[in-house]
Amino acid sequence: MAEKKKLFVRKTKQREVILDVLRNTDCHPTADWIYQEVRKELPNISLGTVYRNLRCLTEMGEALELCYGSTYSRFDGNPEPHYHFVCEKCGQVYDMGMTVMRDLEKLAAADTGFTVTDHRLEFYGICSACKAADEENNESAS
Ligand code: ZN
Ligand code: MN
Repeated sequence: MAEKKKLFVRKTKQREVILDVLRNTDCHPTADWIYQEVRKELPNISLGTVYRNLRCLTEMGEALELCYGSTYSRFDGNPEPHYHFVCEKCGQVYDMGMTVMRDLEKLAAADTGFTVTDHRLEFYGICSACKAADEENNESAS
């Protein structure tokens, strides 16, 4: 019984540390990045455990999983609906402040006759840091 309790506490602790790492960054990290951070506090944790807990946190609605292609996901410690901007140059994922457009769901429902409960929208382009770096390069070239 005592053994079981210890195991439970350890599992909760792991999830807490993972969620903490996730909540304290706005870089929308990959599981691998989270794993490296969590290891600073829990050196013996495995990547598999980190993955499992991330799944769990996503299912519990504590975190969001952002899928970009089939190879890797990014995770977001802010589970509230919000839009993202993905820089095609540096790959960084930015949070956007604009309101989530629920009207789009009504349009989609009217278009399909389906019940539309949610939507995701991603914006792509070049971020201001990359734009500034580009301009600097152009200036030094001329
Ligand atoms: Zn960029
Ligand atoms: Mn976000």
